[in-house]
Amino acid sequence: MTVTRKEVPQEDQWNLDTLYPNKESWQKEFEALSKESPPNFPECSTHKGKLSQSPQNVLETLTSIFETERKLRKLYTYAHLRHDEDIADNQAKMAYQGITGLYHQFSQETAWLQPELLAMSDEELQQLIAHPLLQHFHFFLEKLRRLKPHTLTAEQEELVALAQQALESPSRAFSAINNADFKFGQVEDSSGSKKPLTHATYGLYIRERDRTLRKNAFSTLHNKFSEYENTLAELLSGQVQGHLFDAKAHRFGSCLEAALYPKNIETSVYRSLIEAVRSKLGVLHRYMNLRKQILGLDELHLYDLYVPLVPSVDMKFSYEEAEELVIESVRPLGSEYVSLLHHGLKSGRWVDRYENLNKRSGAYSSGCYDSMPYILMNFKGILRDVFTLAHEVGHSMHSYYSRQTQPYHYSDYTIFVAEVASTFNEELLLKTLLTRVQSAEERAFLINEKIEDIRGTLFRQTMFAEFELAIHEAAEKRIPLTPQFFTETFIKLNQDYFGPDVVLDKEIGIEWARIPHFYYNFYVYQYATGISAALALSDKVCGDNATAPQTKYLEFLRSGSSDYPLDLLAKAGVDMRTAGPVLATIDKFDTLVTELEKTLAPSGLKC
Ligand SMILES: [Zn+2]
Repeated sequence: MTVTRKEVPQEDQWNLDTLYPNKESWQKEFEALSKESPPNFPECSTHKGKLSQSPQNVLETLTSIFETERKLRKLYTYAHLRHDEDIADNQAKMAYQGITGLYHQFSQETAWLQPELLAMSDEELQQLIAHPLLQHFHFFLEKLRRLKPHTLTAEQEELVALAQQALESPSRAFSAINNADFKFGQVEDSSGSKKPLTHATYGLYIRERDRTLRKNAFSTLHNKFSEYENTLAELLSGQVQGHLFDAKAHRFGSCLEAALYPKNIETSVYRSLIEAVRSKLGVLHRYMNLRKQILGLDELHLYDLYVPLVPSVDMKFSYEEAEELVIESVRPLGSEYVSLLHHGLKSGRWVDRYENLNKRSGAYSSGCYDSMPYILMNFKGILRDVFTLAHEVGHSMHSYYSRQTQPYHYSDYTIFVAEVASTFNEELLLKTLLTRVQSAEERAFLINEKIEDIRGTLFRQTMFAEFELAIHEAAEKRIPLTPQFFTETFIKLNQDYFGPDVVLDKEIGIEWARIPHFYYNFYVYQYATGISAALALSDKVCGDNATAPQTKYLEFLRSGSSDYPLDLLAKAGVDMRTAGPVLATIDKFDTLVTELEKTLAPSGLKC
């Protein structure tokens, strides 16, 4: 029986009282910021239309906007965390909606800033950037200035912004059909009993030992998408057309360039990731062959890819054990990191540990400049949960260091670097666990987990990245994005990536239709680059002569968004402009496969 929120002992809850002592004090601060009628934030627009008159005007405007945003973020953080504790709590829901609306209002009222700054001539902008008054905003303005060649007149930008809401409708429609309208019914397991199929249970069934259940879940889920292939193809095509509109309107050479340019990531980084992974697909094929052998199958189907190869190990952990393990694992980062984390997890109560009735599912790290880096968990004690804690701790410590070091406007960081910090800590945990294993089975179990992690994060996401690029390039060449085009492109990629030992069931042709990330505009490649950078950095920090790498890594955690992501990583010691880190990750995968082969292949240990 799941406990209600009220029944959760205080020591298992995150400490939100340090943010606001109670809901009333939150309400008071919220009301102080919201006005009867707009404008809500007149202090942010005092110099509207007069920015070019003096650097002082720019300074006052930026200061005022960031100060207000900082207050709003604090209000937002409290409301969203309270809301996630119990999503059925009406008072929390109202507070959350209230602050979301106010935040929206703030964005609208300050939307004039960027076009007005970019309406200045390049010379004026350069003078502004060089002005001593604005030295704390140097990088912020420099980043903005890069956008100038791709920014239209204020009137044109307004028109593009108006079109934006219509352009977002394919992704909203996809989300509606995928999350609400689709019902997958039930699937039968090998004993003939029926089980409900949802997105969540699919993830569980596909890992089950019961092959009938896996097969039925796989085909039932994909067949549902196939029934709607025309609609789903129109939706994805509509989304791609939207990206194309945006790229053309802002004078970019391609959709890929438009998506990467604001972060100053060259398109060659994307292409070289694909090229590097493609050059080493033989390694993935070898793993597929090994999987087939270990599972003892005549044919390896797509529904056989997620079942663990080492079923005999059932590792269980209490939350306290998980905490100890995660703290132990970060020792290579030095005593300061260890003691900060120790405090955060123990007396600081960063973490909301266990499931309760109506608590948001999953896990995340969240917070703001004026809060602790909170972590939401639904800890149940399996090994995956310990890795999740390590992952979220990686995000939280990154946030902690960046907020401690950077001014508010550089304290956030981009996704490109975010997943480096979290994956880095997962890798440290794995290294620790490997030193503690009791048996060959346990070791093989951990190695298999890591192999699957790299397969899912590097190989699978790169295949997706390749698909995304192919469909955008087709749209740029005016090739119609029909269901057939999507399906053929997707099957071809699956053939290349999985190799000769995997039977490509016909259902896989429609998988493109069920991946929400294809609506995110060149997002998934960052998972692949993230894991590669994290593994490279963790090897350095755990290697011999680790003092310099450790200092550089901590410096990276402190750097927030004070520079472009590739430059931050380069300073930390990993050059993502080259294929080196990706190739090294594949080499690591290769080594792990060899080790698994020695332990588990039919000639080795039986399980
Ligand atoms: Zn993450």
